[in-house]
Amino acid sequence: MSKFYDVVIAGGGVIGASCAYQLSKRENLKVALIDAKRPGNATRASAGGLWAIGESVGLGCGVIFFRMMSANRKRETQGAAVAVDASTPHILPESFFDFALQSNALYPQLHRELIDKHGMDFKFEKTGLKFVIYDDEDRLYAEHIVSCIPHLADQVRWLDQAALREAEPSVSHEARGALEFLCDHQVSPFRLADAYMEGARQNGVDIYVNTNVTGVLHHGNRVTGVQTAEEGVFHCKTLINAAGAWAADLSEWATGVRIPVKPVKGQILLTERMPKILNGCLTTSDCYVAQKDNGEILIGSTTEDKGFDVTTTYPEIAGLVQGAVRCLPGLKDVNLKRTWAGLRPGSPDELPILGPMRGVEGYLNACGHFRTGILTSAITGVLLDKLVNQEALPLDITPFLADRFAVAPVKQERELELA
Ligand SMILES: Cc1cc2nc3c(=O)[nH]c(=O)nc-3n(C[C@H](O)[C@H](O)[C@H](O)COP(=O)(O)OP(=O)(O)OC[C@H]3O[C@@H](n4cnc5c(N)ncnc54)[C@H](O)[C@@H]3O)c2cc1C
Repeated sequence: MSKFYDVVIAGGGVIGASCAYQLSKRENLKVALIDAKRPGNATRASAGGLWAIGESVGLGCGVIFFRMMSANRKRETQGAAVAVDASTPHILPESFFDFALQSNALYPQLHRELIDKHGMDFKFEKTGLKFVIYDDEDRLYAEHIVSCIPHLADQVRWLDQAALREAEPSVSHEARGALEFLCDHQVSPFRLADAYMEGARQNGVDIYVNTNVTGVLHHGNRVTGVQTAEEGVFHCKTLINAAGAWAADLSEWATGVRIPVKPVKGQILLTERMPKILNGCLTTSDCYVAQKDNGEILIGSTTEDKGFDVTTTYPEIAGLVQGAVRCLPGLKDVNLKRTWAGLRPGSPDELPILGPMRGVEGYLNACGHFRTGILTSAITGVLLDKLVNQEALPLDITPFLADRFAVAPVKQERELELA
């Protein structure tokens, strides 16, 4: 039987859930969220870092590219012009800093709101993020970062070896110091997605899990609904594409154009609960380490081009473990509880893909959040709510429109398919 909604959101990761939550506050809108629960969902794989500066400058999971980048970086820091290789993390443009920092600033209030109104605590913790410096190369890069973000000078702090040991007594003696990003914090990513989802549900959003969107309905150049395998047809005025690493399929069905989103695999592991050994999150040239509110420690993460493969593999996990033990020698005797892999929705320039597409009505992108979808889910939900309701946006999304890519339409058969 057909269903009728104002807005259908395809994809129930943190991005779809955040959009659903923000839209659910509008009393006049009927909203449905449809999620297929595919293996590899990035939200459930994530570390939950809100590393607004760390990620914008290419740290966070980006450090895994560190070795690959080092040749480039040496030349950069020596003043040579280096062409940015879009396939590796680098210092992202100012537009992304604004996006990430605005999102970051929303969390304290969002945390309170979801607890007070919906009884959901996503465990927001003010931790800071320390980039641990082992050698001259690390220091050079840290100095380079600081020189690139003079406007954020009040958000960075240098720690010499003694100050680092005082702040984080468990860190190895090998560490010579750290560069700390004061506004970078953490949440529990599972609880964040659950909190958005439960808030949305309590506010009246219909949530369909284990439901696959398999096609898109059109009338002329307007998207009018979706076809699902399990629940039949959903008619809608607006379709939001929040399908994570699978977003290209949905955009092709909706617009005839495949947006360039592709899966970027990340492996990560979790230790048993430990007494508190960390006061904040750490990132190094080998891995990052984040102790969560329940004492478990997340050690992440790889950045791999392996398609939709979500296996965990010994060399990659061993590499992360070695990196973590180098940084925190006390981890050498700890039990590993679990390893897993997730699929980041990567885009060629590492920026998200947001908003409408030229020539298509009733369709909005909310995808391509790559390695910062947890951090940037808050602002994405706000932006998509305002786009649906045609209200002024808190920031310019021009840099994030799909039109920035020269993408050719795929064969236009959709009128025939779903007329
Ligand atoms: C190891 C790892 C660590 C990370 N750490 C961090 C971090 O510390 N901080 C941070 O900010 N980000 C981090 N990220 C990135 C972050 O997890 C992602 O950017 C974010 O989760 C993307 O959310 P999403 O909702 O777009 O995608 P997803 O969470 O993947 O959700 C997409 C959903 O869409 C559904 N779907 C797809 N196609 C269809 C369809 N046709 N019909 C119905 N449903 C469909 C899928 O089943 C899936 O559930 C990490 C990622 C990984 C893998």
